[in-house]
Amino acid sequence: MDVYFITIFPDMFREALSAGMTGIAERTGAAAYHVVNLRDFAEDRYGSVDDYPYGGGPGMILMAPPLVRAVESVRSAEEGDDAPVILLSPCGAVFTQAKAHEFASKRSLVFICGRYKGVDERVRDLVVTESVSIGDYILSGGELAALVVTDAVIRCLPNVIGDERSRDTDSFSTEREFCLDAAYYTRPPEFRGLPVPETLVSGNHARIAQWREESARRRTELYRPDLIAKARLKGSNE
Ligand code: SAH
Repeated sequence: MDVYFITIFPDMFREALSAGMTGIAERTGAAAYHVVNLRDFAEDRYGSVDDYPYGGGPGMILMAPPLVRAVESVRSAEEGDDAPVILLSPCGAVFTQAKAHEFASKRSLVFICGRYKGVDERVRDLVVTESVSIGDYILSGGELAALVVTDAVIRCLPNVIGDERSRDTDSFSTEREFCLDAAYYTRPPEFRGLPVPETLVSGNHARIAQWREESARRRTELYRPDLIAKARLKGSNE
């Protein structure tokens, strides 16, 4: 998979992508990351990529021409490409695990990272195929959001996670029926008066599996009852 990031802060990406799963994906050839400096597509020699909003008011707007040309340069590098061009934006649909799986099935992804007061709306009209938000709060730029989405997508790719059974029991996975994961413990067996649940050290795999299922259900009820309500609603619609 080729992942492109169009940004005015290219330095934010290298270090973040080289760690953990995204780094493994790159080293094994499962993914390649291309950080595109928007300023390389500026139309003047000062590298200007933003300007004042029409109609006045506070904040600067990323201009359409450099952004559209940056997307087109990526597109022409990817012959016959139908890669999603994703604008990180609070207006987008909120990112989910289902969306991560959908993106993981693509050959390439292009992320446009907004900054300042936002992006000239014509960028959306001309090149954006979908907008994605990572939640109902405002970031100062799309870079961290693009990294969040990329991390979630990369761990869905085949052969990136060492033990895929671990991923398949994570929260929101199909095996968990879109609920939360179970609680986990590791050594020592007792810490500050708190013992590890007896079942987990029993060696009885059937009982352990049952304990984990129960733990996942309890945690979902406690922390995310909305997920259970959603699952019920989905069930009753089928
Ligand atoms: N004026 C805009 C916010 C601009 S914030 C508004 O109120 O909707 C600057 C940039 O940060 C945005 O263009 C977008 O790329 C990014 N951004 C901010 N919040 C985000 C979120 N929740 N999800 C994804 N991207 C976000």
